Amino acid sequence: MTVLPHETATLLHSLGVPAGQTTGGNRAVRSPIDGSIVAHVHDTDAAGAAAAIAAADQAFRTWRNVPAPRRGELIRLFGEELRAHKAALGRLVSIEAGKITSEGLGEVQEMIDICDFAVGLSRQLYGLTIATERSEHRMMETWHPIGVTGIISAFNFPVAVWSWNAALALVCGNSVVWKPSEKTPLTALASHALLTRAIARFGAVPEGLAAVLIGGRDVGEALVDNHAVKVVSATGSTAMGRAVAPRVAARFGRAILELGGNNAAIVCPTADLDLTLRGVAFAAMGTAGQRCTTLRRLFVHDSVYDTLVPRLRQAYGSVKIGNPLETGTLVGPLMDRAAFDAMQAALAESRADGGKVTGGARVNADTAPGAYYVQPALVEMPGQTATVERETFAPILYVIRYSDFEAALALHNAVPQGLSSSIFTNDLREAETFLSARGSDCGIANVNIGPSGAEIGGAFGGEKQTGGGRESGSDAWKAYMRRATNTINYGRTLPLAQGVTFDVG
Ligand code: NAD
Repeated sequence: MTVLPHETATLLHSLGVPAGQTTGGNRAVRSPIDGSIVAHVHDTDAAGAAAAIAAADQAFRTWRNVPAPRRGELIRLFGEELRAHKAALGRLVSIEAGKITSEGLGEVQEMIDICDFAVGLSRQLYGLTIATERSEHRMMETWHPIGVTGIISAFNFPVAVWSWNAALALVCGNSVVWKPSEKTPLTALASHALLTRAIARFGAVPEGLAAVLIGGRDVGEALVDNHAVKVVSATGSTAMGRAVAPRVAARFGRAILELGGNNAAIVCPTADLDLTLRGVAFAAMGTAGQRCTTLRRLFVHDSVYDTLVPRLRQAYGSVKIGNPLETGTLVGPLMDRAAFDAMQAALAESRADGGKVTGGARVNADTAPGAYYVQPALVEMPGQTATVERETFAPILYVIRYSDFEAALALHNAVPQGLSSSIFTNDLREAETFLSARGSDCGIANVNIGPSGAEIGGAFGGEKQTGGGRESGSDAWKAYMRRATNTINYGRTLPLAQGVTFDVG
């Protein structure tokens, strides 16, 4: 008999989720830890979604007039709630998404970090002043709130990605409506409950400023197609982005797309192999290969291949796989049966293409028959086949031998996705080439660090079929605001730009 439903109910209660939201609903929520049903949530119907968006649109009209530093105070209070409930929410992330405990807690830490960032940002929504060609004129840019921000999120970062968007959008003066993954509604309801507490402490927040809609693709589409939703920030597979982007574009909405990755690293002759081993192991096996930034392709130079790859094989064989709530576990479960099937299909294809597979088998099927635990797979490939060019959302690392740096770099970039990338080297020329205009074509390019585990201070996102969006740090906030260029004439004449004359009498 599993104890998870009981613990889940206790956690949800401590996080302030009303019991009626997670019991008696139409949608069963399963924990990937043992496959047990831990709650039943209620899908939002079409009328409920429309009403929430309309309320958010009304709330926006009030919220945009609140001074930005005051809006920041709401996010400061939310950060306090997250700090106070980090342990409970982190545990719930582990139960619902299968992350090991340090990663569940890390996800909540990321939410806290973005709140801190957004509080500072609330006093820094800067515009430029620009030199004008006309005397006694001044030209400047101002940034204004834009409207309802719709957030669609994926199962694998069930709450952090929402917080990147929500903290920034709220500070920027927008309202937010969130459609979390249908696989992880509980952590969404819990995060929303914590934000609701912060709102209650803040006081005087317009009704409907933040909402959460539960359900699948159809509920996401309600956000995508609603004209009141000025920005749609969608995180998930490239297939999802391909469906969402044209629909948002058709109504001239703005889309921030954070889609699939197929991240690679190049290991060069001068690489520090101890450091490389650790970097590769975390990036490839961490979160059971279910990060958008997971390392999936490894190009290893001939001169270090026979040293590094056997050590990697050994690391793959020794990693502790199992219940993510147990101390010492490094690899938790796959999300569900579909993820397991996709992994097995990719491994079969790689074998057929001449790949040498280490690992990949299902484990713990006797103790957890309703869950899908696997040995992470290391696949030595003769080349970059069609299977390697695809993102399979599971712990498969394809390893390819190279002898020429330029050829490795070309292969590195020869995939449709462009999220994250790394080089392991102590050669300045290789490192700088990798970071240069003709180097990695990804949104994230690292040296002597794996491709996963980004900090919130940088802009996060990728190119090509990863969608081109940027979220989180740097100037990503600009995507949640509209820009106005203002020219002010403080003189008594009316000189026209470009020397144009237009004298009327
Ligand atoms: P998914 O595409 O199946 O679902 C993501 C979200 O989109 C869910 O909330 C889903 O209900 C919704 N959705 C799906 N189709 C939709 C449609 N047509 N209209 C509106 N909403 C729709 O992805 P997943 O399996 O939950 O997550 C894994 C994928 O997400 C991987 O490809 C991973 O690389 C990617 N991901 C990317 C990032 C990033 O920042 N680039 C971050 C996390 C995950």
